[in-house]
Amino acid sequence: MTIIESRASWDAARPRSTTYLGSAKGVKAHYTGGRADPRTLDDHDACRAAVKGIQRGHMTGNGWSDIGYSMVVCNHDRAMIGRGPHVLPAANGPGLNSGHYAILLLVGTSGVIEPTDAMKRAFHAARTYLREHGGAGSEIKGHRDGYATSCPGGATYAWVRAGAPLPSAPPPPTPEEPEESMPEIVSLGLEDEVVVPPGADFQPWWTAEWKDSAGSHPSGGQSIAPNTATWVDIVAYVALRGLAPDEPVEVAITRHAADGTLQNVAWPIERPALLRADVDGRVEVNLAAQFGLGPANRARVNIRHASAGQVVLETASAFKALLHRS
Ligand SMILES: [Zn+2]
Ligand SMILES: [Zn+2]
Repeated sequence: MTIIESRASWDAARPRSTTYLGSAKGVKAHYTGGRADPRTLDDHDACRAAVKGIQRGHMTGNGWSDIGYSMVVCNHDRAMIGRGPHVLPAANGPGLNSGHYAILLLVGTSGVIEPTDAMKRAFHAARTYLREHGGAGSEIKGHRDGYATSCPGGATYAWVRAGAPLPSAPPPPTPEEPEESMPEIVSLGLEDEVVVPPGADFQPWWTAEWKDSAGSHPSGGQSIAPNTATWVDIVAYVALRGLAPDEPVEVAITRHAADGTLQNVAWPIERPALLRADVDGRVEVNLAAQFGLGPANRARVNIRHASAGQVVLETASAFKALLHRS
């Protein structure tokens, strides 16, 4: 599954300004127009450095307020947030930016010249993200549609013209037991609204736990902590209010050691999602993660913010995990 990475993941500089974009007809594909370093095929740090370099070029060379693209996708099946949803991009050309969000594939005129399957998957995930969060319509176009440029390159443009077909999905992690042996944890959630205090550390957000009928999830803590080694699919819905308009907040699914020590942030892998409150100071987000858990570790859904206001996690949030015994 494609990982959506925050601006912090590639060490983005702050935009000098942003222009609101309410909706768009769809997305346009772009390439770098120069050499795409083949190291970006293997090393995601090279991807992040490339995106950082592109931002520097756009801000200092072009004098733009930020990197020109809405999202950047790479061979690691990752979609890095550039300007992001509801922000006018700058990459499509004058007069064309309000029509489409701009998605860059890390492909160029030399080095890496063809989009890989992972990039194509990530492109679709970026498009879905912009549709869900930025009001993007269904169109998929190339930069050269309506603008005189070679972008997004022959191979990528041919893919776009063919309808941007999704490559076949990678094989999912295979549960070793048949379907009927998978207990499902349901009805985890909040009984009452909870005030989420500001702070530097993630705050576990639920106050009560439920135990599933198979007993693989012990009650009494603030975590998903199965008694046996399992693969866990977690889907969480988080709704917050009380933030200032456009104020940032981070929400993540995290994995902890049995003593509660943070082991890693599972969605997205390295960094939590950096979200911004809407004009009413609200944030609503769906998160998903899949990883192995057992008696030695546990999963939580966490929130981090630095708001001066009283941030409230609302009632009726849902949390669900499907356990595959291994
Ligand atoms: Zn372009
Ligand atoms: Zn990458």
